[in-house]
Amino acid sequence: MGIFDRLEKYEHEQLILCSNTQAGLRAVIAIHDTTLGPALGGCRMWIYPSDEDAIEDALRLARGMTYKAAASGLNLGGGKTVIIGDPARDKSEALFRALGIYIESLNGRYITAEDVGTTVTDMEIIHLETKYVVGISTSRGGSGDPSLVTAYGVFRGMKACLEEVFDDGSFEGRIVAIQGVGHVGFHLAELLFKERAKIYAADINDKALGRVVNQFGALPVSPEDIYQVECDIFAPCALGSIINDQSIPKFRCKIIAGSANNQLEDDHHGSALYKRSILYAPDYVINAGGLINVADELEGYNRQRALKTASKIYDNVARVITISKRERIPTHEAADRMAEERIKMIKELKKIYHGHASR
Ligand code: NAD
Repeated sequence: MGIFDRLEKYEHEQLILCSNTQAGLRAVIAIHDTTLGPALGGCRMWIYPSDEDAIEDALRLARGMTYKAAASGLNLGGGKTVIIGDPARDKSEALFRALGIYIESLNGRYITAEDVGTTVTDMEIIHLETKYVVGISTSRGGSGDPSLVTAYGVFRGMKACLEEVFDDGSFEGRIVAIQGVGHVGFHLAELLFKERAKIYAADINDKALGRVVNQFGALPVSPEDIYQVECDIFAPCALGSIINDQSIPKFRCKIIAGSANNQLEDDHHGSALYKRSILYAPDYVINAGGLINVADELEGYNRQRALKTASKIYDNVARVITISKRERIPTHEAADRMAEERIKMIKELKKIYHGHASR
């Protein structure tokens, strides 16, 4: 497929190829949709088999960010940067500064952040050349580690699911099985412990598992057995693609709600959960706390405000459930519809003449 055909397929606005031989920079910036505001999305550094693969990944990820921002009620569009290179070998000051200059030249149409293969330190180098970067450290006025805000958003989304399934949003006595108790899973376990939920946890890292067992009384389960724990909520907080042909028959839960990205191996697995009457909180709606956290930096970071915005994930998940019931569609489709409806609504409003033309 030609480049323009690829852009037209999902109505991407712009693709920027950034090349600087001296800095060893080969990067792609994809901007999907800026109806709601500047495109915000992370900067991934990865070894791609071909330039086409890098472009495809940037386009796909940028589109994902449009949906995530729209579903979260943020006034942001979707974009993504992909640097072609080995994060372990190819990083340099020149590379990130060169990218920063390209981002600056877009005049705020795109804002970058940390992603797979890049770090807060890399973002701080980009920041030397552009103000259009978020996710820098707290010592420099940034938002720092987003995992507490992400966990809080997941917790709020879980509450909306409990209300739907049990007509009662209380966590007391509810059983939650957490897969992965790293950054987000740890904070989530703490929030659940405080609300007197019963926690089962699995992790391949014994130290991480030990912390939640000792501090929050979590019952340890092996990584293989976590799928079939009889529970109210299964919370994937480790890996993507864990909802698949193998795991679906094992689930003994009523709700799946967690922070992991890309939980469905394929869309039809979302439909399979719907058929099994397992309520699935779409990943990009419930795990938007990380995006909400970095987006707050644009107004001068304030953790309390970020948490307040993340608490609205309760309303966002509730709205997805309402659309799913009304349209009789699985929740992952309802989430897409919610995002598309918001973009369409704002597009319509932008037609209104605002009276500032010079003639
Ligand atoms: P993390 O690396 O700190 O934690 C992941 C944990 O999962 C680790 O402790 C790891 O040992 C464990 N794990 C890995 N494979 C496992 C397996 N097979 N079974 C059980 N445990 C396993 O990552 P994190 O920052 O806590 O993020 C968790 C997930 O949430 C990731 O998918 C991430 O992309 C997503 N997410 C995170 C944020 C954030 O704010 N950190 C925001 C949005 C989405």
